[in-house]
Amino acid sequence: MSDPQQKLVIRNIGLLLSGKMEEPILDADCLIAIDGKISAWGREGDLDCEGATTLIDANGTTLAPGLIDSHVHPVIGDYTPRQQQLHWIDSTLHGGVTTLISAGEVHMPGRPKDVVGLKAMAIAAQRWYENFRPSGVKVHAGAPVIEHGMVEQDFKDLADAGVKLLGEVGLGTVKDGKTAKQMVEWARKYGIQSTIHTGGPSIPGSGLIDADMVLETGADVIGHINGGHSALPDDQIICLCESCTKGLEIVHNGNERAALLTLNTARELKQMNRIILGTDGPAGSGVQPLGILRMVAMLSSLGHVPAEVAFCFANGNTARERDLDTGLIEAGMCADFVLMDQAQHSGGKTMLDSVELGNLPGIGMTIIDGVITSERSRNTPPATRLPIIVRRG
Ligand SMILES: [Zn+2]
Repeated sequence: MSDPQQKLVIRNIGLLLSGKMEEPILDADCLIAIDGKISAWGREGDLDCEGATTLIDANGTTLAPGLIDSHVHPVIGDYTPRQQQLHWIDSTLHGGVTTLISAGEVHMPGRPKDVVGLKAMAIAAQRWYENFRPSGVKVHAGAPVIEHGMVEQDFKDLADAGVKLLGEVGLGTVKDGKTAKQMVEWARKYGIQSTIHTGGPSIPGSGLIDADMVLETGADVIGHINGGHSALPDDQIICLCESCTKGLEIVHNGNERAALLTLNTARELKQMNRIILGTDGPAGSGVQPLGILRMVAMLSSLGHVPAEVAFCFANGNTARERDLDTGLIEAGMCADFVLMDQAQHSGGKTMLDSVELGNLPGIGMTIIDGVITSERSRNTPPATRLPIIVRRG
């Protein structure tokens, strides 16, 4: 006997955001997910809403694919030693983020830097977050930092063991483009995605990675192109945007002026689809539970991007860049959502208006794999309207 079908129906949606730059707003007031996967959306009268095991009245609020943080440094469970903080992932969920991508578990005290040790830790980290989702949040971790001495077989071993990401290139001993390029190519050959630290040193012990090294290495994502924290000079940022087609990752822990320069350059190139967002937390700047929302509001308001497009930087673009099964309203995608509304007493007539004025939305609910994971956010300003749980399976 298999489990009975789980059917999630969300009705009375005021605005459905798709995560897709080419069509950011969908004409729909109802969405259905079966067994944790999106199955249909549209007008309620046209859909089969019978037999819902979970029924939510969105109460006119906005539904978007759950936000994705493309750049975090988790260590273990919902604890980070970086600022001695517990429950930072739960707090991030209350900021609308349902998926986290590790750029390396670099804050692990005593992190092994020998080849067998770093491989063992990467595999273990991949396992402990696969086996345990803090507050339901999906954490893609197990991202080894490359070190001198690694050979092709090491990347094959990592891939065979389930490792799918490299930590930021440049945080280990490999700081020359030639070695980094070779290792990134080995990683790619076995299906491991790569990212590179871009800009000045983040903390004592880390180093400068300039545009020449980023381009020579050819990692899949230009990690924190706006610096973490120190950005490269403007001409190098523009050069990175113009000289390759890799992901342009903008982080909260970076230089905000450089973030706007990246946005404006990508817009001139008609390549805003390359923009993805991260926090780079936990870090020296701490943990930013609302970091992704703050980047959306900052880029939308100061960068003059329609809010519905800025939200795509925080879900759909990252999903496509990183080949995820979440972050887009598409049949078969994971039913990972955030429901939000205009914050109480914020300016503007609608949620999108208020974000374009630089305000954060208020979050009313998150859903992961079709299951409600949080209700009214304890971290965002209060939403004007909140979704209502009519039936909970
Ligand atoms: Zn970095």
